[in-house]
Amino acid sequence: MAEAKEAKKVIVLGIDGGQPELIQRFVKEGKLPNFEKLMKRGVFKEIIEPLPTITPPCWTTITTGAWPGTHGITDFYLPQEPGDDLDQIQHGFNTHKCKAEYIWQAAERAAKKPILIKWEVSWPPVHHGIQVEGCGPGVVNYFELGSVRLHTTEDLPMTNMVRLKPAEGWANLDPMWKSLEGEVIIALHGGSEQVYHLLINKSKGAGYDTALVCSTKDAAKTVASMRMGQWSEWVIDIFDMTPNQEKMARDEAQRAKTKTYTKTKAGQDTQARLTMAQRAREGLMPRGKTKGSFRFKLLNLSSDASEMELFSTQVWPVSGYTQPPELGEELLENVGPFFTNPARDALHYEWIDERTFYELMDYQHQWLAKTAKYLTSSREWDLLYVETHCGDYINHFYMQNFDPRIASEAQIRNATSWFTRHYQSIDRMLGDLVSLADQDTLFVVVSDHSGTPSPWGYLEPLTVLENAGLLVYKNDEQGKRVVDWSKTKAYAQRSIYVYINLKGRDPQGIVEPKDYDKVQEEIVEVLRGAIHPKSGKHAFQVVFKKHEAELIGLYGDRIGDVVYALNPECDEEHGKELPTSRVGDVSIRSTFIMAGPNVKEGIHLEGMAYLTSVAPTIAYLIGIPVPANAEGAILYEALVDPDLRLHLQRKAEKERDRWRAMYRGIAVEYDLNPRRELNDE
Ligand SMILES: [Zn+2]
Repeated sequence: MAEAKEAKKVIVLGIDGGQPELIQRFVKEGKLPNFEKLMKRGVFKEIIEPLPTITPPCWTTITTGAWPGTHGITDFYLPQEPGDDLDQIQHGFNTHKCKAEYIWQAAERAAKKPILIKWEVSWPPVHHGIQVEGCGPGVVNYFELGSVRLHTTEDLPMTNMVRLKPAEGWANLDPMWKSLEGEVIIALHGGSEQVYHLLINKSKGAGYDTALVCSTKDAAKTVASMRMGQWSEWVIDIFDMTPNQEKMARDEAQRAKTKTYTKTKAGQDTQARLTMAQRAREGLMPRGKTKGSFRFKLLNLSSDASEMELFSTQVWPVSGYTQPPELGEELLENVGPFFTNPARDALHYEWIDERTFYELMDYQHQWLAKTAKYLTSSREWDLLYVETHCGDYINHFYMQNFDPRIASEAQIRNATSWFTRHYQSIDRMLGDLVSLADQDTLFVVVSDHSGTPSPWGYLEPLTVLENAGLLVYKNDEQGKRVVDWSKTKAYAQRSIYVYINLKGRDPQGIVEPKDYDKVQEEIVEVLRGAIHPKSGKHAFQVVFKKHEAELIGLYGDRIGDVVYALNPECDEEHGKELPTSRVGDVSIRSTFIMAGPNVKEGIHLEGMAYLTSVAPTIAYLIGIPVPANAEGAILYEALVDPDLRLHLQRKAEKERDRWRAMYRGIAVEYDLNPRRELNDE
């Protein structure tokens, strides 16, 4: 039984998308020894997150203890600014938009020192402690110099096509190599490019088997060398980030043509990526010569070199992405190069295989653990927050292949195997982090939501509104399909909101304020009646009028006039379904594990528990002020002594009384004046 005493420090491991049923299953199968140990000496709960069941609002709830209506991060995106059209939304990964106090700000009020390592939705830092990155899940890469790329002999969209030809004009070539040459172009943000020279060699004189990447046409100036299936060493180089306005304008035009905003994954990603203008405005865009790092993997090389696929990772700057900014350089020396995005998009586009993605994810886990060890041993600290996005990435890749109604046995086997391997990688990191905790350290594992399969396929609420005549499209001068605001009464926006196109509020509003209630009622009726075409069943789980949604923590000026949740069977992996949803063997609930001083051991909590409880419970256990806007209750059920503070106070009072009595005794014995002395204190 854990001792009922105060904890002195806390370590929190955040797992975005961490799936409570899968973790329990793999623990039962003996595959996650560190999770198992922690659960045996602590409490476990499938905890309930807020709606929408999506990253920014849920992490912000975890670290403020407040509901989305209170902290204001009401979705993946935030609503339009006043005066903007209803489809002009902005990304929600911005602490400056949060209206509630974070736990690390509360901790600093008590002179405690926080360290945040890649903790999601915590950038820009709003505390004075150490911070390493903390933007988003690899779709909001504030500091990225260049994104992942495939260099291939094939002509594929968005890739760098390499035309191999006999090498000419090179220094230090071995004639036995029969070298072929090509160009590897690393595309940088801002329109600039870094060109490397590629050599494909027959190192043993037989077939082509080796790739060398060189900074100039000199085989002695190799920055990377690898055989098929191998990673290169890290390339640490200086990148010229001077913007090329002309190329940038061309790229933007190309993007505008190919990716307009839709509710599809690709569309959302495009929206989430900050435009160069936004990055420049927020002072985030690196300028001029910038030191950065990346690496290659030679994915494929046929012996006649007719087929070659070379992958390059995200190019990440070595400094500037931390607080203080120069910490990055120190981490490069002591831990190694960092990247925030383990090539999620590359797996999505099928540029890389599942193993390569796993290798990048595992590298990142090791990097996070080593960084935690380095920073906790070189800095003073009281709160350590470390986060991985792994759980969510794999939910998006594998969850649909996990439902026997839509997946084959082979797909389920493959999904299970990758789920297992990724959780084992997290488990190793967990073991490393637990080793940093002593007897007085509270340890918490928490996720922001998880994921469920959606066998019916996604249902687009915009289509439901369009079919009901509430939303009308037209073609603009370029023939592009756009909303006809002059005929549109309602518009579905972000994950779970419908807005009335209201006169006086929205720039092209057509609904008179006197008709607000009527139109709101009409939208509610339409959504409640909507039938999913594939299943023939109701597509919406619940539909609330704006004022009714306060029941689930949604209110204020950053939510829609109607709030809905989709049936989980048509919600892709997460985001739009109620936080208590379940599909087959998995739920959308979040994972919560807590162990340490004053925490019960080996208990599966039975009571109701919300993510709003995490911050107040940590604050209570480690003795710091509760974050100012926290609304969650302390998880008393988890505690050995729920009244610990009261008992500590009583104990202190008793001790004080004993000392007073003793002091009085001594004073009387030595004929001093106890009354006067006591009054002086
Ligand atoms: Zn998330």
